[in-house]
Amino acid sequence: MTHTNAPTDLQWQAVQSRSAAHDGQFYYGVRSTGIFCRPSCPSRRPKRENVAIFPSLEDAAAAGFRACRRCTPAHISAAQQAVAHAQHLLDTAEPTPSLVGLAAAVGLSPFHLQRVFKAATGVSLKQYAIAQRAARTKAHLQAGASVTAALYDGGHASPRTLYDPATDQLGMSPGQYRAGGEGQTITFAVTQSVLGPLLVAATQRGLVAVRFGEVSTLEAELRTEYPKATLKQDEAALAPYVDALATHLVGARPELALPLEPAGTAFQQRVWAALKTIPYGQTRSYAQVAQIIGQPQAVRAVAQACAANPVGLVVPCHRVLRSSGALGGYRWGTDRKRALLDREAAGPVA
Ligand SMILES: [Zn+2]
Repeated sequence: MTHTNAPTDLQWQAVQSRSAAHDGQFYYGVRSTGIFCRPSCPSRRPKRENVAIFPSLEDAAAAGFRACRRCTPAHISAAQQAVAHAQHLLDTAEPTPSLVGLAAAVGLSPFHLQRVFKAATGVSLKQYAIAQRAARTKAHLQAGASVTAALYDGGHASPRTLYDPATDQLGMSPGQYRAGGEGQTITFAVTQSVLGPLLVAATQRGLVAVRFGEVSTLEAELRTEYPKATLKQDEAALAPYVDALATHLVGARPELALPLEPAGTAFQQRVWAALKTIPYGQTRSYAQVAQIIGQPQAVRAVAQACAANPVGLVVPCHRVLRSSGALGGYRWGTDRKRALLDREAAGPVA
């Protein structure tokens, strides 16, 4: 074993935080036990100096490691399947299933389901259910139902629940966000994507920027936005993110389950969380997103929050159109927006 298998800071952070979002992106072997795991393995955390990183199961096995019996790294897609199943039930079941019912239906413990769901979608089960119920309520209202009937038909136990605040949000809370990135270290890479130059930037906790632009100005824009942060260019450290985004852009990875830490106001965070619930290949109007966050009057503010989205693709602001069906704007140009929507409409690539 050579030191080239040593974890990057991002990989080590994923192991320490047992990040399900990194499952499938790499595997780690523990030299002291000879066993390899996926990042989310619940077993005791290894010492960093004992950890060897492998890009695939085959590489780990070829290096002499045995698969862990707790996290069964070969069965990685089980959690991803459970998340998809839970999303489908929340989209369709009447009334909205309870957490215990949902967990039983997908074959996970409630705790485990909550953890993998949040990791895969960026929102909690509760936030997702609230967004789905709000969308259904709007559909009922458009069909002419009374407000109270619509609230009950939308799966609400009582009208009050529509206004339950969604407590947890994407990434860090605005209170934790330090203006200008003071004290933060941000790692970034500039890469060529099928839609032109792409800057990808992350802290150890998650992505802060995914944006298109010109090679000559992308880095300067990041510095302007985070004047007090320490910026480090490191293509290797960001390779897991860059690879996931590149795969997504050619249609082979519809779900982008990547950790996020976008800086923004509480309102912007709520809009971005709502955008994450729009499935691949679907669109919503700005007015529908305003409904989802429970502020139907805030259509213009929603459009502004979409335009300010710092994490393109992962927070899919390109899936929001005008109510008329017109394309609307896009922070990185309407040509790119149309290309993204056309790609999604064609369906995922096997
Ligand atoms: Zn394990």
